[in-house]
Amino acid sequence: MATTIATTTATTQAVSDHALPREPDVTRLYRHDCKYECCPSRWSKYDTVSDEQLSLESKILSDPIVHRHHFDDDKKWVTASFTINSRVMRSILSEALDGYQDLDMGLLNWTFFPPYIPLVHRWDKLLILHLRLAVKKDLGLSPEEREMKLTAIGQLMSFLKLLLTPSVSAFAETRRTGKIAFDIVWQIFPPGELVVTDFFGVKGVCRVLKYKKKTPRGEPAYWVITMEYVDWNGERCGLTETKCLIYEFEGFQRVLSLPVYPVSFVEDPAGWKERATERGRKFEQLRGYHFLSYNGTKVLMGEQAEERPVGLCYILLEMLVMTDERSRSRAELWWMPMHTTGAATLSSPHYGR
Ligand SMILES: [Zn+2]
Repeated sequence: MATTIATTTATTQAVSDHALPREPDVTRLYRHDCKYECCPSRWSKYDTVSDEQLSLESKILSDPIVHRHHFDDDKKWVTASFTINSRVMRSILSEALDGYQDLDMGLLNWTFFPPYIPLVHRWDKLLILHLRLAVKKDLGLSPEEREMKLTAIGQLMSFLKLLLTPSVSAFAETRRTGKIAFDIVWQIFPPGELVVTDFFGVKGVCRVLKYKKKTPRGEPAYWVITMEYVDWNGERCGLTETKCLIYEFEGFQRVLSLPVYPVSFVEDPAGWKERATERGRKFEQLRGYHFLSYNGTKVLMGEQAEERPVGLCYILLEMLVMTDERSRSRAELWWMPMHTTGAATLSSPHYGR
């Protein structure tokens, strides 16, 4: 008898250990009621909203693109941001955004916000990357890799197209009309763009490094366009930074009336580039020590830069030969600005040996 009891107990033990799960599979739900009674009650698997949020965040980590929406004042769902998680898509975007002003997508968790300025500025580059992947066979990729990249960029482009079309067509409109509104001044200054600005009444060519909008409290907003150009300050020749401010204006303004504007907006961009390059070559030929007679104005740099007329005088031009081959070839490709600070305006037709 005792044996039978022992056996039964052992069997029950075995059943509870193996056949039945220790904890039944129960889905627990929690009802969340809006305390202001403005939202319908809803059921959730989480007792707190923050746990629900955490679970959602971890579930979407491997989704290639996460597109977030919020309900705007017009009672419509609009894009709040989007995040790229796909490794292949990230590598394509890294290539397209390479060298973009202070942009580190890693720091931004690969999240883009409207109006997606870097993507609008590099839209053409993305199109080129797509085209190159589609038509070029010799990119050093295995057929599988190429296929994977091509699929990823195709999907990425069709997603981005919907979001970027308004901005891309707004830029086409700016180009067509030659007019721009203050808030979208960023459109025409993608980093790397060649622009024209005034140096003491003489037009010079610079390259855009970055743009930034400033909105000081109680004062008009303005854009700061930071640029680099080849300068000659009487001592050394090389790339120097300069800034140009565009103050807030009402309605529209002609691009060419701004204190700085892209070379591509001038009437004859090709001719302009040619003339500027020619002047740069002249500047380049003056490398070394020369005594030149000059008739024109000189710009004195100090706390307050000033322009002074000079009669016939002799100036010493010293062009430092840059030892760094890279910066040298970069400098040679540049269109020299038409003034030289601390010395004299080289663009003047009056200089000669
Ligand atoms: Zn509510």
